[in-house]
Amino acid sequence: MGIWKSEASDCILEKALAGQRISPAEALNLYSSADFLKVMAAAREIRNRKLDPVVVTYTVFRIINYTNICNVNCSFCSYHTSLGSPSGKVLTVEEIVTKMRDAIAIGADQMFLQGGVNPGIPFDYYLSVLHTVKNVFGRHIHIRAFSPSELMEMERLTGMSLRSILRELKSAGLDSVPGAGAEILSDRMRAILSPRKCSVADWVRVMETCHQEQLPGSANIVFGSEETPHEIIDHLRTVRELQDRTGGFLAFIPWIFQRQTDQFKIRSIPAHEYLKMLGICRIFFDNIPHIEASILVLGRGTGSMALHAGADDISSVVIEENVLKSHGLDTEEKARAFISESGFTPARRDLLYRTVC
Ligand code: SF4
Repeated sequence: MGIWKSEASDCILEKALAGQRISPAEALNLYSSADFLKVMAAAREIRNRKLDPVVVTYTVFRIINYTNICNVNCSFCSYHTSLGSPSGKVLTVEEIVTKMRDAIAIGADQMFLQGGVNPGIPFDYYLSVLHTVKNVFGRHIHIRAFSPSELMEMERLTGMSLRSILRELKSAGLDSVPGAGAEILSDRMRAILSPRKCSVADWVRVMETCHQEQLPGSANIVFGSEETPHEIIDHLRTVRELQDRTGGFLAFIPWIFQRQTDQFKIRSIPAHEYLKMLGICRIFFDNIPHIEASILVLGRGTGSMALHAGADDISSVVIEENVLKSHGLDTEEKARAFISESGFTPARRDLLYRTVC
């Protein structure tokens, strides 16, 4: 049985190397049975055919957590607090501008606005933040903001259609949307981890509408809880099918859960499983150009290996991150040194993956 599985996995990798799309069932076979070193090698070969083999990109942006008030209560999140809590906060527009000014002074050219899902914030606040940041710093400062859950809260609060909301946000300065809040696109797992978060169908609806409104973004998966291998691959299928329809995902990023609370089951993902998963993402997503390794959560050892398993980007130099603990590279110099030490040439990019230097 073991030999048969190994031979089947080899055939699937040969199929992918021949330029053919692999099916979800074949991806599941790779995840369950393949030798991770063979998956890494195939993924790297496929990456090298699509992109400059020696270049690994990075970007520099500031995450601004504009509110810690959130009514979603994900079991894995220790960051949020409830509306009315004394520790709850919403940054003023002026505070956001000050944070962005500090970030620009040390090299950032992008801002990632990340909330809680705060029912107490009026829609005008978001428009005012976007307008003001663009007016103060210029149109070239890229603003990525608002997960599907945040956008759905705006729908609920305003009664406006999602399309109208996106058009107003875009007109005020929104450039792209994050892949945040996907975690595992399985309604069974979402009921376990975050029952008040958007359903799979809503996540797809919101991202598809964003793409139709020319708001590109990335997609991710966060694994390492109670999900099954089938649910992991089904997540990839959902994203690939959406991408076939829209082409709006510029990158895919596999993340692993971090221990923030003891309210959910977490399993430790060994490096070889992560690297196999990353390689499968590169092989499976024949329609997404970039695969990122998030050094933020992986650490440098596995992160360096990931660049040899199909990843072409180290995610980003993140100047502020309240939601996750950072193992990351907090200056541009460290990011460039990390990429060089991993055997590649560093190149800075913008949030649309255009090389800027
Ligand atoms: S992960 Fe995000 S949506 Fe979930 S509770 Fe935390 S802030 Fe809210």
